[in-house]
Amino acid sequence: MRIKIGIVWFRHDLRLRDNEALTQAANQCDVILPIYVFDKRLYENKTDHGFRQVGPYRAKFILESLSYLKKSFGERNIDLIIRFGKTEDIIYEIAHKVKSTWVYCNRERTPEEEFIQDELEKKLWQIGQELRFTRGKMLYHTGDLPFPIKHTPDTYAAFYREVGKIVPVRKPLPIPDKILPYMDNVMSEPLPTMEDLGFSNDEIPETNIFKGGEYEALRRMEEFIKDNFKATALSLKQKKKKAGVLVTHMSPYLNTGCISPKTIYEYINRFMGNKYHSNRASCIIHGLMRRDFFKLQEKKYVEKIFEKGGIRGLDLSELTDDMDAFNLWKEAKTGVPIVDAFMRELNQTGFIPFEGRRILSQFLIEELKVNWQLGAEYFQSILIDYNPCSNWGNWNTMAGVNFDAKEDRYCNFITKAKKLDPKGEFVRRWIPELSTLGNNYIHEPDKVSEAELKKANIELGKDYPMPIVNTERWV
Ligand SMILES: Cc1cc2nc3c(=O)[nH]c(=O)nc-3n(C[C@H](O)[C@H](O)[C@H](O)COP(=O)(O)OP(=O)(O)OC[C@H]3O[C@@H](n4cnc5c(N)ncnc54)[C@H](O)[C@@H]3O)c2cc1C
Repeated sequence: MRIKIGIVWFRHDLRLRDNEALTQAANQCDVILPIYVFDKRLYENKTDHGFRQVGPYRAKFILESLSYLKKSFGERNIDLIIRFGKTEDIIYEIAHKVKSTWVYCNRERTPEEEFIQDELEKKLWQIGQELRFTRGKMLYHTGDLPFPIKHTPDTYAAFYREVGKIVPVRKPLPIPDKILPYMDNVMSEPLPTMEDLGFSNDEIPETNIFKGGEYEALRRMEEFIKDNFKATALSLKQKKKKAGVLVTHMSPYLNTGCISPKTIYEYINRFMGNKYHSNRASCIIHGLMRRDFFKLQEKKYVEKIFEKGGIRGLDLSELTDDMDAFNLWKEAKTGVPIVDAFMRELNQTGFIPFEGRRILSQFLIEELKVNWQLGAEYFQSILIDYNPCSNWGNWNTMAGVNFDAKEDRYCNFITKAKKLDPKGEFVRRWIPELSTLGNNYIHEPDKVSEAELKKANIELGKDYPMPIVNTERWV
């Protein structure tokens, strides 16, 4: 009898644990052949407004994650095949060559990913092979939801009411016990370099603040738990004093698939029995649920979330493609320190927290009246944790084009800055040219007297720009 060969096509799921496609292939086939393709279109084609689709921070993170995955497979005498080209052609050729039985993948739903899936599926049919889909990418299994996807509630609050605390989260799958390699000369190639992916030397970040890979994701999660939850009664008291919003910094790992949302949920859930921990941990669970919500919204409305008028089909003609204003925003030259500080952090690391993303997007839309799609595309390019549904979904909210957005999105950027950064430490770190200003002035240098500016040795308009918007209305 012919042995069953399962090709496992890795995509945004660069892990062995809780990987449904891998588990199914290992259960149904005698041997497996894992493959990852750097799709050349993603690295060569630009977004509508001319940005790289994958910027250097994410590319480097993916390479690191793949290097670890290759090592994990290597320890099991399995070679992870890595290629660069058109995904559907490459996988088809390999499937044809090795006469595989099935190709497995975790299903993606965004238009570009679906196009590749469909093309591959058609090609495989021609040789009597099948693409087998799994769907273990979200916190909730879509089969467990109390509504069909097309009836997903349109606000997060309604989604939470119908799903949170009602639908159980499935247990993460263990690494399959038995993964046997397909042994033949499929011709392994080394990992591409950043240069192979089209990045020039001066674009390549020396280090990322995040190192990719499944091991690193789990290590960071353990550390997070140790620092935040494994508190003795005494330290718990101290922790209560400085209790604030907990954030995991797991988004790069989640979106490259080095860790699954169910695995994070399992870590966090261990502490939910304790009321104090439960309150603090709930924001993380909400984050994971919001991620699912945006994925489901995308499945429901498909390309509408990428359109200027969004799922509500609004007329946003007042927002224009004003490239001068956009470039000042992108280059951190708005003259509003909190905005420029977050932008410099983003440009130099590929990551900023939610508040930073909110401030940048609100400033672009509400103050500069620039088309939000430009901002979303720039984030797509620069973010290390870019995920189409989360990025475009959140931009939809900020632009007010989905049903989740607040009607009044006015933001006083100075009040906000003083709340987020009362001592000005964050601004001083990213805008050292303002570091000589006192705490009272650092967030609004344009309100500082000539004498004070002179004392601080700052010439506004030369050392740091004058604000490009009217700041009077924030007083
Ligand atoms: C304009 C804008 C663009 C954004 N683009 C992205 C993006 O491309 N990729 C991305 O993962 N997040 C995006 N976010 C959401 C959010 O800012 C990040 O998920 C979060 O800052 C990641 O930090 P964390 O891992 O410490 O989050 P935690 O607070 O620890 O939350 C745990 C996880 O929940 C998910 N999550 C939390 N908040 C959100 C949210 N509002 N929307 C969707 N998922 C959420 C993330 O996967 C996160 O890792 C965007 C937000 C805005 C306002």
